[in-house]
Amino acid sequence: MNPLSWIDDELVALEQNTLRRRLRTRVTPQSAQMTIDGRELVNFGSNDYLGLAADPRLAAAVIGAVEHDGWGSGASPLVTGHAALHRQLEERLAEFEGTEAALLFSSGFAANAGTIAALAGPGDVIYCDRKNHASLWDGCRLSRADVRAYPHNDCGQLAELLAKSSKYRRRLIVTDGLFSMDGDIAPLGELADLAERYEATLLVDEAHATGVFGAHGRGTAEHLGVEDRVHVRIGTLSKALGSIGGFVAGSRALIEWLLNRARPYVFSTAAPAAVAAAALAALEIIQKEPQRRRALLTRAEALRTELGRQGWNVGASTSQIIPIMVGDPDRAVKLSQQLLARGMFLPAIRPPTVPEGEACLRLSLTSGHTAEMVAELVTALGSSR
Ligand SMILES: *Cc1c(COP(=O)(O)O)cnc(C)c1O
Repeated sequence: MNPLSWIDDELVALEQNTLRRRLRTRVTPQSAQMTIDGRELVNFGSNDYLGLAADPRLAAAVIGAVEHDGWGSGASPLVTGHAALHRQLEERLAEFEGTEAALLFSSGFAANAGTIAALAGPGDVIYCDRKNHASLWDGCRLSRADVRAYPHNDCGQLAELLAKSSKYRRRLIVTDGLFSMDGDIAPLGELADLAERYEATLLVDEAHATGVFGAHGRGTAEHLGVEDRVHVRIGTLSKALGSIGGFVAGSRALIEWLLNRARPYVFSTAAPAAVAAAALAALEIIQKEPQRRRALLTRAEALRTELGRQGWNVGASTSQIIPIMVGDPDRAVKLSQQLLARGMFLPAIRPPTVPEGEACLRLSLTSGHTAEMVAELVTALGSSR
């Protein structure tokens, strides 16, 4: 008897609910135009917001670093894995973020899960926005603290929950800065007010906003002018920075604590030093070329307006992430297939990734899209109404 035979049944069940997911293979670099499973498509499904993933300057930085440092890092950072390039990137990130220190993780997922679990434990309480990313939720679970979900961006409900929190040792409020599916921004000013009133720590995940929002590209906290009121800032190098890895920025004490206690940091091999070289090159580009993020947000605003005029519901989006709300999962899949037939890739997002009744197409705009590509998408969506 095969003890894993239940998996076959579960996969059939997924298939029947049209929820089974399959890998597609891209054979060209990650950019606005790609070939995937033998088809040439315009790519509206990446998080490469500034078009840096395939930028030759990042590739050149990696090649140079590999020639000097080799490839593998061979150990966790605390043993012998921490190389000069890692250190340089951490110093640059702290400087960029305007914090005392920063710490690199091998992914944004690891940074989120590891940081939350290191900051809260039994006897503490974490308040987590319902629409927070899976890695934040996993961090909450790993912490073994009490976890309270609050309705998306609902500070009134959060205030009521916090009013009952006096029995806990510590309080932690956790939120995405820019939400990954809805493309809307957390009310960080109000969240910071609540954190101050209830002596809570405020942690903001800037995964989709680093490099895109704020005058200097530091994210939603900069955009909303509340950087000094956010205690723990987490970012990723894998989206607008076109590389791979995550980081935490904050006080020296916070960073020292995490490097001692965040388990994905302590017990996982450091990323290759060359990875840090790519991120250093990307940071330089986002500082020297602010027009990339400005143009992206301007064009995203025009596109949201245009889609609204066509009668599409783009929800509460105020960013480069534009959900085209469809509601019915089958309709979302059908629309995605229609666009695919016209050479455009927009993934259909269905439950359980989004709540029941909130199926959508997730359109993400990047600097690599030409005006023609966007115009064609608008035409195609117009004729699908
Ligand atoms: C993608 C994402 C992460 C994870 O970052 P990776 O570097 O891809 O592991 C964390 N938080 C949010 C909101 C994300 O969308």
